[in-house]
Amino acid sequence: MATGTPERLEQIKGFINTVNLESEDPLLGPDALPAWLEATGVMRSPTEDQLAQLRRFREALRGVLEANAGQGDPQAAWRALEPFGRESCLKVEIRDSGPVLRAEGTGEGALIGSLLADAYEAVATGTWPRLKACRKPSCRWAYYDRSKNGSGAWCSMAVCGNRMKAKRRRQKSRVSEP
Ligand SMILES: [Zn+2]
Repeated sequence: MATGTPERLEQIKGFINTVNLESEDPLLGPDALPAWLEATGVMRSPTEDQLAQLRRFREALRGVLEANAGQGDPQAAWRALEPFGRESCLKVEIRDSGPVLRAEGTGEGALIGSLLADAYEAVATGTWPRLKACRKPSCRWAYYDRSKNGSGAWCSMAVCGNRMKAKRRRQKSRVSEP
């Protein structure tokens, strides 16, 4: 894959990034979740309740990605996902290559289950800690950290990283002024 994100994390990343919290582009809209659901073929014409539930799940999941980037308490972040895990229905499917977790059902419950199965697999294979949410408070975009030692903190060094560094430099010089 061109972005270098493991395949099963690509789905989570896409889901989290259905809202661009920093976007100033009115064409992108505040929240592309319905369009994403349609484009990925997951759900057609979701109800407002279903969208609200998926948005709650999306932000809870983003919390874990923020914890992966060193922001907030990881335990609390996982705990926020607990009710979603309880409601999802997963089955172990045996394939030629071995067992795979599969979500059952339809609608938003199946999507939540499927994304949690992706997260489960990523935790098991060790790729999960690299799926992060940008540390810039106004951005929080999901990205896969490809840095050598996994210490990346921003979705894009060119944009968020440099902006944050410049901000810190300004703050520092302000503090050192008499
Ligand atoms: Zn960012």
